[in-house]
Amino acid sequence: MKRIDLHIHSRASDGQLTPAAVVNAAAAGRLDVIALTDHDTADGWVDGRRAAEELGIGFVPGLEISCKLNGISVHLLGYLPDPTYAPLANDLQVVREGRTDRIPTIVARLNSIGVPVTVDEVLAQATGTPSVGRPHVADALVANGTVANRSEAFDRFLADGRAGHVPHYALEPGQAIDLVREAGGVPVIAHPWGRSSYKVMTEETLGRLVQDHGLAGIEVDHQDHSTADRAELRGIAADLDLVVTGSSDHHGLGKVDHDLGVNTTDPEHYERLLALAGDPLGG
Ligand SMILES: [Zn+2]
Ligand SMILES: [Zn+2]
Repeated sequence: MKRIDLHIHSRASDGQLTPAAVVNAAAAGRLDVIALTDHDTADGWVDGRRAAEELGIGFVPGLEISCKLNGISVHLLGYLPDPTYAPLANDLQVVREGRTDRIPTIVARLNSIGVPVTVDEVLAQATGTPSVGRPHVADALVANGTVANRSEAFDRFLADGRAGHVPHYALEPGQAIDLVREAGGVPVIAHPWGRSSYKVMTEETLGRLVQDHGLAGIEVDHQDHSTADRAELRGIAADLDLVVTGSSDHHGLGKVDHDLGVNTTDPEHYERLLALAGDPLGG
């Protein structure tokens, strides 16, 4: 059976491997299809696709779009959208700029509680990406010995509610779903019951996103979801006739327990997802 991993990050956002290295690692790990889904950027697609073609594995270009619902962070995966569709490209740029702009504020807040880090140290961890964010602050804290790994950096300093957490601009999920569909892509809510999004991603909300905006799927098999969560989310997906995906949300070695292929997508659901691409809004 085909092994399909539909949520992977590279250095084009906050992953630790270049797009080509990610594809190489996926091929070495005997994955048949991968999606590159960097945060708010399509910058890794060209290199990723070229490497995938050379190695003969399937490549799905994707995005993970930063959204917010009632102040709670929600991530939307968009598969196969046209990245040159201007309304989508413009909004992604606004999201990226908002994230980068807050780095000095995050650094100042950390300094104020006695954590030693500079903006230059953060930027040094973010080469090759237009999407600088908290993971790069975390990497700077690892590099200067303040913490052991990214998870510790988030738990102690960067997660929602911690001293170094500064909100940034994000789209409403409904708005992001519309943009992805207008761009011919397929919208799937990432880890709906993840660390914060479980507060807002109720069956009722998901139902509304399906009905009003054409949400196509939900990521069920993700490391943020317990076995019980996955069973319940499968039931919701069946009720709402949604595509079910499974993925690693791989970021390289810095994010533990997210090895490539740790979760995979059923080939039947993958085919359903592909069939929805290129179908314009209302078409
Ligand atoms: Zn995410
Ligand atoms: Zn992700």
